[in-house]
Amino acid sequence: MTQPTIISRGEHGISRDQIDHNALKVLYRLHNAGFQSYLVGGGVRDLLLGLEPKDFDIATDATPEEVRKLFRNCRLIGRRFRLAHIHFGREIIEVATLRGDHSPRNKDGVLDDSGRILRDNVYGTLEEDVWRRDFKINALYYNIADFSVIDYTGAMADINDRKMRMIGDPETRYREDPVRMLRAVRFASKLDFTINKESADPIHELAPVLAEIPAARLFDEAIKLFHSGNGVKCFELLKEFGLLEILFPQTVAAIKKDAEFDVFLVKVLQSTDRRIMSGKTVNPAFVFAALLWQPIMGYMQRSLNDGLPINVAMQKAIDKVLPAQLRVTSMPKRLSMIMKDIWFMQDRLKNHSGKRAISVFSHQRFRAAYDFLCLRSAAGEDVEKDCRFWTELQELPEAKQEKALRPKKSFMSHFKKKKKVKE
Ligand code: ATP
Ligand code: MG
Repeated sequence: MTQPTIISRGEHGISRDQIDHNALKVLYRLHNAGFQSYLVGGGVRDLLLGLEPKDFDIATDATPEEVRKLFRNCRLIGRRFRLAHIHFGREIIEVATLRGDHSPRNKDGVLDDSGRILRDNVYGTLEEDVWRRDFKINALYYNIADFSVIDYTGAMADINDRKMRMIGDPETRYREDPVRMLRAVRFASKLDFTINKESADPIHELAPVLAEIPAARLFDEAIKLFHSGNGVKCFELLKEFGLLEILFPQTVAAIKKDAEFDVFLVKVLQSTDRRIMSGKTVNPAFVFAALLWQPIMGYMQRSLNDGLPINVAMQKAIDKVLPAQLRVTSMPKRLSMIMKDIWFMQDRLKNHSGKRAISVFSHQRFRAAYDFLCLRSAAGEDVEKDCRFWTELQELPEAKQEKALRPKKSFMSHFKKKKKVKE
């Protein structure tokens, strides 16, 4: 048996008033019902680092059914991991039952041929639960019974050294769940930690295994990376590890052909990071539209060279590029519609007056399409004039905007009118 290091209440920086009050409620109710009850994972890690946790995860020895009996506002979810979600308005506190050994010896835990975990529903003790977590820094437990932090893996040392080490053999752990490679990138970027060599090296070789993960899960993980507020850093690390090539093969091929596209993507992600840091909303369709922009343009150019009209060329390019991406990272239809709007509107934004200009300006996605246009301009595409036009237009008082877009009367129409008066 491994002996944990117990860091007592006075020896660590976590105090209860930093913990979300709904999470505290759940911790206490479990504890008062006689169960073990811990705050775990990112919540503990971030509090120790003086950061504000994104969410608070709770671990307990109560089974999901026992948790449900304690909370009226509880729903059980998940197949691979059966979890209890406790709802407080829009906030959800996730409660997981401590889990044990998932090796093939154990009939309730199932690995597939490549060593991937398919089911992981064997309940266990705290000591067993520790070893199924990914990085040491994610395996600290804050015990509500005595406010201590329990450390089985040497995680406190890693937090102090600002480094990330995988628990167990990194290669085995990445094969069990290849998404851990993306999590490595996400935490290293967010925390500005270094991944130690043993945990970083296998990623280069194992990156292709990621392709076996269901497309819906990869979409979720991709969004977490690009909407983390550290999108630029994530993007650079994904490239470095060869992970971007698996997630966005067409993007990487386009970057290899055209370094300016890389500049554009960095600008898009810088702008996304700024928006997130200042609390503005971001739409996943925007980053995805950017990642596929150059591949779309490439196909489009070929059709234009063949003499096809621009809208037809665009549609053909979309039919080529989008399905190929959705096989890797699927996305809800509503988002792919927004992407298409952004792409189609790039050409329409070349109209500065008349019916088409008015319709593009009143389009629900005008703002996104305009932002996209100006980022293209900032990255060196020849659309500076268009970006400037729409920027200036929006600076006009509202009453004047519509007038400015009205069709400009041509010399001929002026002439015709005059003639009419004479008759
Ligand atoms: P954040 O919430 O800031 O994204 P987190 O570390 O809390 O980071 P979650 O996805 O919320 O990450 O998961 C909570 C905890 O569950 C993790 O800290 C880790 O201990 C464990 N965990 C989550 N996903 C995995 C995984 N794929 N493999 C192993 N352990 C995992
Ligand atoms: Mg979390």
